Amino acid sequence: MNAQPLADLSPDDLAALLDEKRAAYEDLKTRGLKLDLTRGKPSAEQLDLSDALLRLPSGTRDSSGTDVRNYGGLAGLTELRAMFAELLWVEPEQVVAGGNSSLSMMRDCLVDLMLFGGVDSERPWSQEETVRFVCPVPGYDRHFTLLESLGVEMLTVPMRKDGPDAEAVAALVADDPTIKGMWVVPTYANPTGATVSQEVAARLAAMPAAAPDFKIFWDNAYALHHLTEEEAKSADILSLAAAAGHPHRPIMFASTSKITFAGAGVAFLAASTDNVAWYLDHLGKGSIGPDKVNQLRHVEFFGSARGVRDHMVRHREIIAPKFAEVDRVLTERLGGLGVATWNNPQGGYFVNLDVLPGTASRVVELAGEAGVALTPAGSSFPLKQDPDDTNIRLAPTMPPLDEVTEAMEAVATCVVLAAAEKLAG
Ligand code: PMP
Repeated sequence: MNAQPLADLSPDDLAALLDEKRAAYEDLKTRGLKLDLTRGKPSAEQLDLSDALLRLPSGTRDSSGTDVRNYGGLAGLTELRAMFAELLWVEPEQVVAGGNSSLSMMRDCLVDLMLFGGVDSERPWSQEETVRFVCPVPGYDRHFTLLESLGVEMLTVPMRKDGPDAEAVAALVADDPTIKGMWVVPTYANPTGATVSQEVAARLAAMPAAAPDFKIFWDNAYALHHLTEEEAKSADILSLAAAAGHPHRPIMFASTSKITFAGAGVAFLAASTDNVAWYLDHLGKGSIGPDKVNQLRHVEFFGSARGVRDHMVRHREIIAPKFAEVDRVLTERLGGLGVATWNNPQGGYFVNLDVLPGTASRVVELAGEAGVALTPAGSSFPLKQDPDDTNIRLAPTMPPLDEVTEAMEAVATCVVLAAAEKLAG
């Protein structure tokens, strides 16, 4: 390990390092790697944890006697709503259990807001000249592409260790009625791993907004996805907003995509009972009810909220070593060089790697040519534009541990090579 910052090297030493790293990179390319750290998917071993689902449900009726094979029950099975209400710290009547994707629920809400307006809207959002959203960055790429697809303009604010920069958000939304909402991933955010503090949540819930129908899309995708025994508790945004006189401001989302099966889990929406009625009213125009067979098998599989938490411990046992390995390799290979910073997340699915400004695209390109697929640089920013070309999102859950090691060794080589190229001019 060379612990001297690259920026402090003499021109000769830098040239020597560049030669050394170029050689290491050429060697890497001859290895024919085929590794992928792009998407935050569960590994096959994690999916196996839920294979009992494939033999459930054991019957056709839930505890209230509903025949789950039939139509109906738009808000989802009562027992599953109650189980996840407990896990998300909300009331059962505030929860809808839906299909397999919370992202679809987010899209439903946005499209309904566009076409019809919300419970507190003066008119449909599509009748406004401009609709803007506040986007904490770096953030979840699909949030941004969803807004882009609907023509919503995006204003960025920095994501900090305790969540979005709440003062920056408050300043933006105070006098601009075109700003209709914001994204928040409150727990173990994608990709920074940040968890929103109680203070930030309270500020976002209470801040005055020029738009009377300002919405917080509170995407709690990683609410239960702890990587350590210290389990972050998500702030109770629905109560905070209600207490501040903005009961309809937050709409919360979550799912079991990374708890059971990513393609066949259950998604949840939670909000004020008026918002829930609004959502179901629109949903009911296109659906007679969700897949209650899937919902019942989830009820049987977990048994209780405790059962969900216990199940998450088994996920942690599989993926925590992969995150530890990412940190180990980065620390050993990049520590002290002054070419990168990264986080060691306490939960969620990602590691946020910030490389020397101006080199992220180059790192991703170099890694790609050496057979290591990384998420395209800039993906965690609206319109895929990272103004500093510095941010790279790493997703280590899917590959087996030895591949994580191999991929990270390669990434480290690419980070140093790109930095040396840049500094050498
Ligand atoms: N929100 C966030 C922040 C995510 O990272 C993901 C998955 N990558 C999703 C939502 C997708 O959720 P679902 O599978 O429930 O559609």
